[in-house]
Amino acid sequence: MKIQYLGTAAAEGWPALFCKCESCEKARKLGGKNIRTRSQSIVDDKLLLDMPADTYFHALNYGIDFSSLQDILITHSHEDHFYPLDMILKAPPYAQEGAVKNINVYGNSVIVKMLKEAMSLSGIPKIRDYIIPIQVEPFVPFDVGEYKVTALLADHIPNEKCYIYCIEKNGKRLLYAHDTGVFPEKTWEYLPGIKFDAVSLDCTFGLGYNERGHMGLPNADDVKQRMLREGCADSKTKFIINHFSHNANKTHEELSDSAEKFGFLTAYDGMTVDF
Ligand SMILES: [Zn+2]
Ligand SMILES: [Zn+2]
Ligand SMILES: [Zn+2]
Repeated sequence: MKIQYLGTAAAEGWPALFCKCESCEKARKLGGKNIRTRSQSIVDDKLLLDMPADTYFHALNYGIDFSSLQDILITHSHEDHFYPLDMILKAPPYAQEGAVKNINVYGNSVIVKMLKEAMSLSGIPKIRDYIIPIQVEPFVPFDVGEYKVTALLADHIPNEKCYIYCIEKNGKRLLYAHDTGVFPEKTWEYLPGIKFDAVSLDCTFGLGYNERGHMGLPNADDVKQRMLREGCADSKTKFIINHFSHNANKTHEELSDSAEKFGFLTAYDGMTVDF
């Protein structure tokens, strides 16, 4: 399997849209891996994770054929992960022809509600032929094409079941864990005995300490150590930190030097990891 990171920033982007802080100014000046767009990834060039407003740019920048996408997994309703109005572009007259006719959008009850609202606001009569909202429940595996996917609970928005996703194919397994603090106990109870080949963890706070809602590197390392203890990972598992806020106030190089000492790769826009 392969994951490509298309966008690696938190909600505001980095440099942030309206911000002139030292961290954003440095990112503007240095460019390259310090430019981070909103959160999105793709597995094996075909299974899309999240749908932020930067999706259009990602499709252009990385040459991804969105007309052939069949499935999108959505983690939660924050706008850096889900911008439902752009889903309407799947239907005519915005898309006249696609390699696939309709697209499945999987998520929690809030995602399904937001998507259905956007679909009805569009006024396109047959929009339901083109976009299929599918509500998924935590800890209940479901098939997405050749993948087996399980939504696990994140620690993120108090009144929403935010998901992290376990994605499996041909004996390989990825845990995609954004946005979340240190996992809730219900998720820990589900994990033992499930071994991952790659684990992508929230690191919104950079090198800072933050347990709830989001994480920083020390907390991502706590998760890593517990996963190792509980047999969910071993020395071959690739651990990656991703989803950074400008408030982390470090360059990519500084983040990546520190992360390396904890055995983590540091995601940047465009990075690909094979496992
Ligand atoms: Zn986010
Ligand atoms: Zn800033
Ligand atoms: Zn969020």
